[in-house]
Amino acid sequence: MQRLAALLVLTLAALVGCSAPVEPSPETASVEAAQSAPEPAPLPCGTVFTPDPELLADVTAAAARWSVATGCDIRVGQGGTRVRLVSEINDNGTLRPGLTHYEADGVTLVIDVIAARSAAVLIHEMGHVLFPRPGHVEGETALMSHAGGNGRITAADLEYVCAGYGCTVFVLEA
Ligand SMILES: [Zn+2]
Repeated sequence: MQRLAALLVLTLAALVGCSAPVEPSPETASVEAAQSAPEPAPLPCGTVFTPDPELLADVTAAAARWSVATGCDIRVGQGGTRVRLVSEINDNGTLRPGLTHYEADGVTLVIDVIAARSAAVLIHEMGHVLFPRPGHVEGETALMSHAGGNGRITAADLEYVCAGYGCTVFVLEA
């Protein structure tokens, strides 16, 4: 009985050996391609903002600060996220100094700010655009907290942004 089983195993092994193709068939190759994980798309590490002329200085300064903090190319130019100076922002009945609008396609963003607090508000709103998603950092000290923090880019701010942005450095503002 044991000899018979051994013979059967040998026969099966021989059959398998004979039927194994030298080159993988196209079918096998496509299955392997489908099983291997797709290469993750590289995270963005550059953002262009296109401000109204009255906001050029403030947006340029804020872009430079985010660039230093993240190591990414954040700058003012044509064809970027619009930054508009408006007289009032009424967010469903709440007046706000700044607001980032998320369009339905998840890509097109517009920042609105009012003149009175544009410098302080812009860096917060621009942070929303680097890794676009609703929500804020917990607490009060982070720039990306709902309250807007104390005006410095903190570790919490960089964790928030760099979760979906290709930061090459992680430089906090002193
Ligand atoms: Zn916000």
